[in-house]
Amino acid sequence: MVLKKIGTPLEWAELPDPLPGPGEIRVKVAACGVCRTDLHVVDGELPDPTVPIIPGHEIVGRIDLLGAGVQGLKIGERVGIPWLGHTCGVCPYCLEHRENLCDHPLFTGYTRNGGFATMAVADARFAFPLSENRSDISLAPLLCAGLIGWRSLVIAGEGKKVGLYGFGAAAHIVAQVAKCQGRSVFAFTRPGDLSSQAFARSLGAIWAGGSDQPPPELLDAAIIFATPGELVPLALQAVRKGGRVVCAGIHMSDIPGFPYRLLWEERQLLSVANLTRQDGMEFLRRAPEMEIVTKTTSYPLDQANQALADLRAGRFEGAAVLVP
Ligand SMILES: [Zn+2]
Ligand SMILES: [Zn+2]
Repeated sequence: MVLKKIGTPLEWAELPDPLPGPGEIRVKVAACGVCRTDLHVVDGELPDPTVPIIPGHEIVGRIDLLGAGVQGLKIGERVGIPWLGHTCGVCPYCLEHRENLCDHPLFTGYTRNGGFATMAVADARFAFPLSENRSDISLAPLLCAGLIGWRSLVIAGEGKKVGLYGFGAAAHIVAQVAKCQGRSVFAFTRPGDLSSQAFARSLGAIWAGGSDQPPPELLDAAIIFATPGELVPLALQAVRKGGRVVCAGIHMSDIPGFPYRLLWEERQLLSVANLTRQDGMEFLRRAPEMEIVTKTTSYPLDQANQALADLRAGRFEGAAVLVP
C-alpha cells in the first residue's frame, strides 16, 4: 500500500519483490501495526517527506533473504523492524550512544519503505530477533507503541503517580508496564470519552477522566501521547513541584502560551524522539515477564486506508494491525 502523494489515500500497487543490499535482510511481513505517526506521514506533518513511500514501522516478519555480509540472523527467523531504520554511526549523537538523535538517520515507513506490504527490506542491524511465543499480531504494537511508551516512561522518572494523556496504542501498553512496576496510573482521555476511560480502568488505571479534569491528586509525572498542544499546560498543571511532563509524540499542534508559574518550581518539560536499539532490546527482553496484553484490531492489508481512518476517528481500542 503506497503513499504516492501527501494527503491522498494509500494505493494498492503490485511491485517487484525488493532485494536486500549488503547488510540488509528481506522479510515476509506477517503483521504490521498502524501508528499515529503513519497518519502524520500521510498528512505531510513531518518535515521533508519522501514519496512514493510504503508506510508502516511496526513490522513483524520472517527473514526470507539475507544480503551480503549479514551476520547473526538466519533465514526463517522471526524479527521485528521498528521506526529507527538506520543510523550513520559517526555523527556526535551516534558516538554519544544517542542514536535516536542521529544526524543522518533513515526511518522505516517514512524515509525508507515500511511494512504496509507483503515484503520489506531492512538494515539487519536494526532488526530485533523475536522469540516464538506470541502471535505476530499481538507483537506488532510493541515495536513502536510499546517501545516509545517504554522510553517515555523511563524519561518520566521513577515517580509513583503517572498520568497518561491520550489512551491509545502506546498508553494501553505503558499503563500495564507502569502497573507492573508498582506505579499508579491516571488516564486522561478526550472529554466525555467514557469507553476509553473504562478501557483504561480495565488495564489497571486507578483513575480515568477527561483531559479537562484535574486528577484527584498531583502527579509525579505525565506523558502526553495525544497531539493537541493544549494538553501541555494542562499536564504541567497536573504535576507536583519538580514533576516532569514528557511529550511522546513526533508531532503536536502548537502549544498555547501559559503562565510561567505552571513551569516554575522545577517542573520539567521534555520530549522523546525515536528510539535506540538499546531501548528495543531492553523492552522486548522484559515484555514477557510483564505479561503485557495488547488489544488489537486487525485489518487485511488492502484495507490500510480504513485502518488509518478508524485510527483518526478513535474507532477502536488499543492498536490496529495490518495483515497481508
Ligand atoms: Zn548518526
Ligand atoms: Zn510509531
